[in-house]
Amino acid sequence: MLIASGMAPSSQVRSPGSLAGPPGPGCGRTLKPMSDGPLLVYGPASPTYDFGPAHPLTPRRFGPGIDLLRSLGAIPGLAPVPAADSELRWVHSARYIDVVRRLSIDPFGPPEAGLGQGGDDPPFPGMHEAAAAVAGGSIAAVDAILAGAVEHAFHPGGGLHHALPARASGFCIYNDPALAIARARQAGRRVLYLDFDVHHGDGVQAIHATDPGVMTVSFHESGRHLFPGTGRVDELGEGGAAGTIVNVPFEPPAGDVAWLAAVRTLVPLLAAAFGPDLIVSQHGADSHAWDPLAHLRVTTTAMAAAARLTDDAAHRHAGGAWLATGGGGYDAYRVVPRSWSLVWLAGAHRDPPPMTPIEWRDRWAGEAARYGRSPLPERYLDAPNAGLEFDADQARADARSLETAALVRILTVPLLLRAAVDAGWWAPGDDSPATTADRAGSVSASGTPTVSGPLDGAHLERLTLAARVIAPADPRAGLRLLVSAARSGALVVGALDGSELVGVAVALPAAAPSRPGGPAAPARGFESTDLAPAGDVDLRPPHRLLAVGVAPAHRGRGVGRSLLATLTELLEGPIVAEAGAAERDAIEPLPYPTRMAVARSLLVGAGFTIGPLSGEIARADPAAIVGRRP
Ligand SMILES: [Zn+2]
Repeated sequence: MLIASGMAPSSQVRSPGSLAGPPGPGCGRTLKPMSDGPLLVYGPASPTYDFGPAHPLTPRRFGPGIDLLRSLGAIPGLAPVPAADSELRWVHSARYIDVVRRLSIDPFGPPEAGLGQGGDDPPFPGMHEAAAAVAGGSIAAVDAILAGAVEHAFHPGGGLHHALPARASGFCIYNDPALAIARARQAGRRVLYLDFDVHHGDGVQAIHATDPGVMTVSFHESGRHLFPGTGRVDELGEGGAAGTIVNVPFEPPAGDVAWLAAVRTLVPLLAAAFGPDLIVSQHGADSHAWDPLAHLRVTTTAMAAAARLTDDAAHRHAGGAWLATGGGGYDAYRVVPRSWSLVWLAGAHRDPPPMTPIEWRDRWAGEAARYGRSPLPERYLDAPNAGLEFDADQARADARSLETAALVRILTVPLLLRAAVDAGWWAPGDDSPATTADRAGSVSASGTPTVSGPLDGAHLERLTLAARVIAPADPRAGLRLLVSAARSGALVVGALDGSELVGVAVALPAAAPSRPGGPAAPARGFESTDLAPAGDVDLRPPHRLLAVGVAPAHRGRGVGRSLLATLTELLEGPIVAEAGAAERDAIEPLPYPTRMAVARSLLVGAGFTIGPLSGEIARADPAAIVGRRP
């Protein structure tokens, strides 16, 4: 199912620069050979997406923006043309497309579907064609990536992430990132969507909310302070897709301290756990400290780091497949051009030059001054805090936002990965690139596995790990994690089918030392206050169950039960176990209630008492459970 529809295996993806010809069915779209770097999606249609001279999302940004990109050697190689209605209907209703068309011809007609004069999305002549071209640019870019013509593409005019299936919203008419994702899903690709815009990526999240093959991750200013008001940590997804929605809301005026720490912590871990085939990212520049519409204090330095992390995740997990888009950004002269260039440079695997070209500054200085955006910065990378005073408000906002990010990590990253990182057993950056084939796993079991343990590092090293037993999604990375964990004192019990590990249970003994040189701290996660024990309590620190997993071909045969029984026999003293939305099969997760029923049954069968969690974790993920075995 996963390696469907004759797509080029990721190992055969050619490097940018070697492409020729149009990407398959997108006839009429130009796709020219270009300089080394992401395919730059821009053309005559791009500036036609224009709500008028008083609107903050100004096409004037393309002037200095594309000019600065050209100075780096980025030449537009794909000119957007309007997507067909049949393509727009992948995510939008036919009726909505008709409304857009009608108001495109008659902009002062009766307002409808979020479109109306005086609102955020005032209709303009040619609106349908302009918006459909933005969508067409992102779809064609994904086509080029899926066809193997390019690894990376960058569409600065894209990123219209607020548009909903039947409604315009927040300057967005057609949702081009959601359409790009839909296209990749038709090709059977699993998509990780990363949204760095200061506004919550609500439209993309809503459109792909029920698809477990799409993980949406949004870093944004809290909806309590900013449009669109959504993007809370408790929006985790439902049913089979529970755990595939990730939101990190920041308190204003948080800056790089919190924002970059959250991005650095979460992006590599979520990518490792999810195992995407394609990354689509939205790089709105409005999280910047100088943005007039929002209140965070992110710098271009942090934005560049986020783009490089995205590029790294694409190479590590997705065979390099990465579509980056622009997004918001309302300082069109001082911020947006540098932000776009830094995204493109990340995809070109080049460090930014220290200085912006003097010719570029000279050319755009007058226009920037006219719009009150002077002087144009001499450097690509901002001074600390973009030159703003680091005040007590910001320190408080950073601290609160870091707490939020820590909570999101607990809610969305599988416990085994968190524990492995905290104990120094494993880091997502340790792993060599994975392929789709690594993650798919076999469908038939060849025999009845034998459960044994504890398995030491030397033994584990001689084995292979089946796909979809434990996080991370790449089983080679999973095996490396297990070897290191076992060497550091973790208890690993395995179900073996020949020399293949088809089931694993892992526990962190209360007294387990961490790897020499690794952090001494125990695995952070569910805090003791969340365990809410009642009555007589064994005061010894509990062992922690980190994971129980069985390969798909061996599920439903009591292997998990047997693994857990062997594990609990080996551990003396209390054991705690926990399960929430983060714990799931990355490829084909069961509906969330079923997952919890399986976890309960497994734990109860092994002598655990199940209780609900308390505190912030319970508020955000009410179905999460904790099990305690005396
Ligand atoms: Zn790259």
